Amino acid sequence: MVNNIIEVKGLYKDYSQGRVKALRGINLDIPEKSFLALAGPSGSGKTTLLNIIGGLDIPDKGEIIFETRSLKNMDELALTKLRSERIGFIFQQFNLIPVITALENVELPLEILPDYSKQRRRDAAKDILKRVGLEGMENRFPTQLSGGQQQRVAIARALVKNPAVILADEPTANLDGETGNKVVDLMKKMRDELGTAFIFSTHDQRVMDRAEVLVHLVDGRIQS
Ligand code: ADP
Ligand code: MG
Repeated sequence: MVNNIIEVKGLYKDYSQGRVKALRGINLDIPEKSFLALAGPSGSGKTTLLNIIGGLDIPDKGEIIFETRSLKNMDELALTKLRSERIGFIFQQFNLIPVITALENVELPLEILPDYSKQRRRDAAKDILKRVGLEGMENRFPTQLSGGQQQRVAIARALVKNPAVILADEPTANLDGETGNKVVDLMKKMRDELGTAFIFSTHDQRVMDRAEVLVHLVDGRIQS
């Protein structure tokens, strides 16, 4: 039997005192190890849904069940713990810290976790940078890397703590087509090797084609 890592139940979210209906009743079961794309035009609710799944935003109605626990019943401390241990985030703009090296960027999420000595952090960061194909580039600063390489660092940073799921909001939107395809292929390889589920938003057809499950959002509803 496959377990659901995330269950989205009856999610509604308005903005601007109800004038903008970003989500209008989303239900979705996401099995562990999924490779799932949220597709849809700009404004369809992709970012809102990802933010609520990741506990960064709160729905008006409905709830997220994360590994059998409802986010609704968690206080800020429990949510922070969940995010720092179980969820990795990847962004369109990579969001690396420019004044520290690739290796230091990847080590960073481990610094707030217990049980990681300096040496263990370094070893884990080096290992994951190697897995994403950046061996030998550990000491470069983000500006010394191409866009595709920066996004690989961001993938390594998201994976280093061995989370259950990675949430990626338009991870290829700042990359050219071929580089974007390679980044998605890398995410799938990481899913295969490490078992991490990936949920990513996109409006790029080539990225959708690479997903195993495709969820279409239109005006805050799931179309298919
Ligand atoms: P997508 O990521 O698919 O482009 P979003 O989730 O960002 O869609 O947005 C869904 C709708 O909610 C859009 O109409 C957007 O303008 C609106 N929206 C998103 N965030 C806010 C906000 N903080 N305040 C007001 N409206 C918002
Ligand atoms: Mg968005």
